[in-house]
Amino acid sequence: MHALTSRKKLAIDLDSVLADTMVIWAEEYNKRNNSNITKDNIISWDISKILDISITEVSDIFSYIWDKRWLDIPSTESSIGNIVTSLHDKGFRISILTKRYRSSVTNVIKWLDFHKIHCDDLLFVYDDTPKTEYPFDILVDDAPINFNHLVHPRVGVLFNQPWNKNFSWPVRIDTLSEVLDII
Ligand SMILES: [Mg+2]
Repeated sequence: MHALTSRKKLAIDLDSVLADTMVIWAEEYNKRNNSNITKDNIISWDISKILDISITEVSDIFSYIWDKRWLDIPSTESSIGNIVTSLHDKGFRISILTKRYRSSVTNVIKWLDFHKIHCDDLLFVYDDTPKTEYPFDILVDDAPINFNHLVHPRVGVLFNQPWNKNFSWPVRIDTLSEVLDII
């Protein structure tokens, strides 16, 4: 049990860190609007500022893809389950920490199983509680807002995505495997 308590807690976000959700979001957007965007065109947090779409439609598409197209959602890198396992084997306790609608939970669990991603706990946040309220030593997330109120020695690792490029943050990674290099 001693080994368990001394493990560092690594919290990992799901959407756009493990699951490359916005790839399929863009596909679905294109289908509905006869357009041709890719994830790389999504260069702002507020998608309604870049595309001709309301905030409600943004989340409608998001809900739809987790409901009907969850199997199409790729991981951000191949064999991501092995990467999570190797982080665990390196001594981290792995939490997946994700804010989402309740309706998507069943398919998120199926998606994690499908990609052979094993974790020590899985935390679904339904309300607006900041992620910093949850226990972790290191948080990997694509949303800089989740690093507000993050206090040393806790570490926030920003997962590079087109929409967070302009945010000034010192610790960034392109792939989850890079976590090992920075710790
Ligand atoms: Mg995210």
